[in-house]
Amino acid sequence: MNFKDLQLKPEILKALAQENYESPTPIQERSIPSVLAGRDLLGCAQTGTGKTAAFSLPIIQLLSGQAAPRGKNRPIRALILSPTRELALQISDNIVAYSRYTDLSCLAIVGGVSQQGQERALAQGTDILIATPGRLMDLMNQKVIGLQAVEILVLDEADRMLDMGFINDVKKIIAKLPGKKQTLFFSATMPPEIEQLAGSLLTDPVKVEV
Ligand code: AMP
Repeated sequence: MNFKDLQLKPEILKALAQENYESPTPIQERSIPSVLAGRDLLGCAQTGTGKTAAFSLPIIQLLSGQAAPRGKNRPIRALILSPTRELALQISDNIVAYSRYTDLSCLAIVGGVSQQGQERALAQGTDILIATPGRLMDLMNQKVIGLQAVEILVLDEADRMLDMGFINDVKKIIAKLPGKKQTLFFSATMPPEIEQLAGSLLTDPVKVEV
């Protein structure tokens, strides 16, 4: 199988060729068609399996070609929650590369850096937001970020969110999102608390284990 068989748009295929990706990894092969079809997903996968592209590529495909002009009226349509700064920035770098020939923009909001710059970037408008829970909660509480137009939610490394004590923040953030959305949930392990969270967030999910 190659990426073309997954029905990805030419602008995405061009970016993947530039990244020297020749064929999809097993998690990509099994996740991309279901996400494109609008299904919720439960992915049991470690870092290194290609899980970032497994969720990013279909999100780019679903959202591209209909972005609003930059500015205040350009709402966040995909939210990706990551437990760590490093992972959030890595996801952001990947999405920038995969979407470089599309009309989409993405932004990472993480702790440990000045909030002012992030507020300015947010005011420009972005389609895809990658965030760590702490800083996102701060910005939500200060009402400098609106998530009422989110269509797709990704929870990455859910088990690490739990280990790092972020799970209550994550639940509070998700409670502010629209009820009707597509949710993609990834975790390397499935302890009972994570399984319960997945059960409460996902509707008839496709399960992919690699
Ligand atoms: P991840 O599991 O998402 O952290 O990805 C692990 C690494 O594999 C990253 O450096 C990606 O750039 C790379 N990668 C992801 N998908 C592919 C692919 N289909 N072909 C080659 N490399 C890939």
